[in-house]
Amino acid sequence: MSKGFFHVPTAINEPIKSYAPGSSEREEVLEQYRSYFNGSVDVPLYIGSEEIKTGNTKPMSPPHDHKHIVGQYHVAEKAHVSKAIENCLASRSAWANLTWEQRAAIFLKAAELIAGPYRAKINAATMIAQSKNIHQAEIDAACELIDFLRFNVEYMSQIYEEQPDSAEGIWNRVEYRPLEGFVYAITPFNFTAIAGNLPASAAMMGNVVVWKPSDSQVFSAKVIVDIFKEAGLPDGVINVVYGDPVMITETVLASPDFAGIHFTGSTHVFKELWKQIGNNIHTYKTYPKIVGETGGKDFIIAHPSAKPQQVATAIVRGSFEFQGQKCSAASRVYLPKSLSKEILESVKKDVESFNKPGSPEDMSNFITAVIHEGSFDKLAKYIDQAKKDDNAEIIAGGNYDKSEGYFIEPTVILTTDPKYTTMETELFGPVVTIYVYEDKDWSETLKLVDETSEYALTGAVLSTDRYAIDEATKALQNCAGNFYVNDKPTGAVVGQQPFGGARASGTNDKAGSAQNLLRWVSPRLIKETFVTPTDYRYPFLG
Ligand code: NAD
Repeated sequence: MSKGFFHVPTAINEPIKSYAPGSSEREEVLEQYRSYFNGSVDVPLYIGSEEIKTGNTKPMSPPHDHKHIVGQYHVAEKAHVSKAIENCLASRSAWANLTWEQRAAIFLKAAELIAGPYRAKINAATMIAQSKNIHQAEIDAACELIDFLRFNVEYMSQIYEEQPDSAEGIWNRVEYRPLEGFVYAITPFNFTAIAGNLPASAAMMGNVVVWKPSDSQVFSAKVIVDIFKEAGLPDGVINVVYGDPVMITETVLASPDFAGIHFTGSTHVFKELWKQIGNNIHTYKTYPKIVGETGGKDFIIAHPSAKPQQVATAIVRGSFEFQGQKCSAASRVYLPKSLSKEILESVKKDVESFNKPGSPEDMSNFITAVIHEGSFDKLAKYIDQAKKDDNAEIIAGGNYDKSEGYFIEPTVILTTDPKYTTMETELFGPVVTIYVYEDKDWSETLKLVDETSEYALTGAVLSTDRYAIDEATKALQNCAGNFYVNDKPTGAVVGQQPFGGARASGTNDKAGSAQNLLRWVSPRLIKETFVTPTDYRYPFLG
């Protein structure tokens, strides 16, 4: 039991370092990058207190230099997954009963370790594993993960403070119990911060976790594990397995103690997981919590009153940063005819000003590689198709080369068909498709934006006309969980823009918010009566 009502440190967003030439942080991260790049790491499974090397290994390579090997990771078999579940359950009681301020201290310490001694490590690992340039690595792996940890501790304490009223003679109180069982966290390749946050947010609320990182992110996932260990997270609270996602998931979802899933990844996978959980529903001891943030087909729509240069910059940054591999990346754009020429010329000029895609070690590179061969081949196929189709034209980029790294030039497709395949399908790469509408068709175009995609993650409207902004805000109410006015649709900051989408984009439980943390508890109401009645008769009985 705690012996005080403790206040957690006020969360503040971690300042973003510049990495400008000559800065000490630039030297430090480059040194760490080279050390990782020229080294060889052997990543085990982390189950309970054991680091398990199964001997069945897979190599890890940077996407921008895919023949170069930076280490290997050990692949789990079914028995390891069962063992991870057993370790969760064995650790559950001690962890769930630890006072909340002790849990808070572990994750606050992890945030400070990332801000200080692990900053260069987690950034360099993210540059290598996910081919992020240093700015993209810094805003993700360092700043966003620090923010998730600090703000979630604050939200956790706010949740615990939320208590019911008590009438005279009684005392009502709510305790926010962890789920009865374990949580399964499945994380995507594209954000080191999400990889850390999905298991950590559930663990912070007192849950034990089986965490399955993406195969393409194991290299930076290992740094997260090192940080949590150094921060003092007890063994068995977060158990880490990699390997065949289907086998791992089937094993986890077959457990009667499965109590919740914290997923981020593609829509198709999440729908399958939901189905599997439904099929197993009679197996479980409690109804599992299902939280998933999934795909997007995020839009920018410019009104004829918009400022062309602002629209062009929103397109270039929104579509091409981190090679368009942010779930929030703009990938379909609607421009009014009267502004389209000026905007498209500016976009083309910007795209032509990028260096050719290359390694993040060369800090003049804005664009680096896409994550893996599967993604490269898919993007190349859509680009080739656009080259052939009569209703599409490539107006910038359009080249690709995988001989050394998975390099796709930032590509702009102009289409005359608002339902053209790349206006509807999530490609998850540096490809944006633009449709030009007649200025008089603004209101119809809003309907088009709403109806074109199954997703509803992010979207942006640019305009200087307040009536138009109001109309768009209303017409597009259901097609984005994060809606931006006069900005690009990417770059959500924890504590400021809680993130998540609806429709096929997810359950919209807003990562980095109290709403999300509430999914990982099962409140228990305790009513205590001080003078307990001794006669069943109410006064009305006379
Ligand atoms: P992915 O769906 O391929 O993989 C995500 C995770 O699911 C990985 O750990 C993977 O191994 C696992 N997985 C794959 N197939 C599985 C299966 N059959 N059963 C169980 N697990 C399985 O996604 P990705 O390529 O890593 O990430 C990109 C996707 O994630 C995009 O669709 C993007 O929009 C989405 N995303 C969404 C958000 C959001 O907040 N909405 C954030 C980041 C990424």
